[in-house]
Amino acid sequence: MKLILLGAPGAGKGTQAEILSKKLGAPTISTGNILRAAVKNGTPVGLKAKSYMDAGALVPDDVIIGVMRERFAEPDCANGYILDGMPRTIAQAEALEAGGIDVDCALSIEISDDEIVARMSGRRTCPECSTTYHIVSAPPKTDGTCDKCGASLTIRHDDEPETVKNRLRVYHEETEPLIAFYAARGKHKSVRNQPSIEATTAVIADALGL
Ligand code: AMP
Repeated sequence: MKLILLGAPGAGKGTQAEILSKKLGAPTISTGNILRAAVKNGTPVGLKAKSYMDAGALVPDDVIIGVMRERFAEPDCANGYILDGMPRTIAQAEALEAGGIDVDCALSIEISDDEIVARMSGRRTCPECSTTYHIVSAPPKTDGTCDKCGASLTIRHDDEPETVKNRLRVYHEETEPLIAFYAARGKHKSVRNQPSIEATTAVIADALGL
């Protein structure tokens, strides 16, 4: 299955993508994680992306399209994937189509801006392995420490409140139009965010007929 997860930053796309990835046996491709690794390693892509990411702006489409082209060429993509955080603009969606990538479904997780702002303030991220936690809804076993690799958890630079507001504005302007784009192709489905991760997984599984 080739699935796109749509939704505002902080809607839970990354968390649900990981769960679906295990269920479906398909990799999750997160452009945000790929870009953060590139920034950390100081690669040419990372150098181009950093200032946009720090400001909560979108990284230019040509950079993203290049990153995705390389990622799709890897062997684990042969039997489908879950796209988390890509496409984020109509131009990126058109580039997927132009590349012959026919997605099965674009599923959006609906959540209000107020819920997002409250949620992002509690998000903690592992700088080593990218696992995310929430101090209330998904805390690590030991405060401030990654369960998977033991690194100290951090607040992502772009999860600071002012940057979150900018990311939400960018989401509404640039990414939300993708809902109409995929609806016009008969491929859009949506679910409402639920009070727990498990309940949200259940409504997604139901929507996808899993
Ligand atoms: P995320 O982890 O998906 O919230 O992405 C973090 C940041 O990476 C975003 O705020 C953007 O600056 C950048 N980014 C990730 N994916 C994309 C994309 N598909 N197009 C443009 N910028 C992106």
